Amino acid sequence: MEDAEGYLRKAQAASLLVSENGDDVSQYHASIHWHARESLAILGELTEGIDRGEISLHYQPKICLQTGTIAGAEALMRWHHRERGMISPGDFIPRAEQSTLIHTLTAFALDQALQQAAEWHGLGIRIPIAINVSPRNLLQPGFCEAVLAAMKRTGATTDMLELEVTENVLMTDIERVAVELQQLAGHGIKIAIDDFGAGYSSLTYLYRLPVTHLKVDKSFVQGLAEEEVSAHIVEAVVSMARKIGIKTIAEGVETEVVYERLRDLGCDVAQGFFIAKPMPAAEFERWYRNWRGRPQLTT
Ligand code: C2E
Ligand code: CA
Ligand code: CA
Repeated sequence: MEDAEGYLRKAQAASLLVSENGDDVSQYHASIHWHARESLAILGELTEGIDRGEISLHYQPKICLQTGTIAGAEALMRWHHRERGMISPGDFIPRAEQSTLIHTLTAFALDQALQQAAEWHGLGIRIPIAINVSPRNLLQPGFCEAVLAAMKRTGATTDMLELEVTENVLMTDIERVAVELQQLAGHGIKIAIDDFGAGYSSLTYLYRLPVTHLKVDKSFVQGLAEEEVSAHIVEAVVSMARKIGIKTIAEGVETEVVYERLRDLGCDVAQGFFIAKPMPAAEFERWYRNWRGRPQLTT
């Protein structure tokens, strides 16, 4: 006979898989045990990882396609685990999002990014930094106040911050999310919808939420070179966004062909490996100083 603790462990393993896969129901079977243990182990180490200074932010530039100027940077989290090596955010953020740990991670990203923005501002690097925010953060009471407190602590101003939220945010409590985002936008913080077009797109939120930017999902951007349908989609998004006063950012720009195409289509901003990969702060600073308005002219 299995004891109560054994059942509980199996239920916990199955529920972890449910949340990671986005399913409604999952049944326990032996093969998921390893997976669940691995997940729990990583989550257990994450807090320690922050304390040990293993988590950092890398910065990837965004370029204004019409002028070639640097429009901002996106902060992307990196975990240099002392034994496991580099762990990609895709392997720990979705897991952290299923627990309250995501609040710790977002608070960390916010502090680091704002501190960096304020420091860069002093050095003449006057660009906003975007951080990724999970739906769960926006449902946490007092999120806006926490953002403002982080600004005060770091000496940053609201024009230095952008928040990127994915469309999943709409599958949660849209009323509460809208109130929180309105409050943030009221302070001048810019809001981007990330991975636009990849999920459960609904155009209603474009007027219900104070969105300033749409980040066109990389699947459409990368299809631009070969598929005419991707070009039509990007063109339609750019034109619609422009008419309602929203700027478009294309992510995942990997080639010159795509970069040029986006500019011709009237897209506002580009981000991707063709311009630069996400870099540690010091490397970003060097890159910034060497930028000459065109990707191939950088050193
Ligand atoms: P995302 O917000 O869509 O970020 C863009 C991802 O695309 C990043 O992956 C970036 O390194 C990658 N990327 C940039 N340029 C290119 C390109 O030209 N081609 C391709 N194929 N990929 C490109 P990364 O850094 O592994 O992050 C993955 C995801 O993890 C992010 O997707 C975001 O959802 C999440 N994430 C990263 N940092 C944070 C964070 O601080 N907080 C939260 N909540 N999520 C984060
Ligand atoms: Ca993002
Ligand atoms: Ca994205």
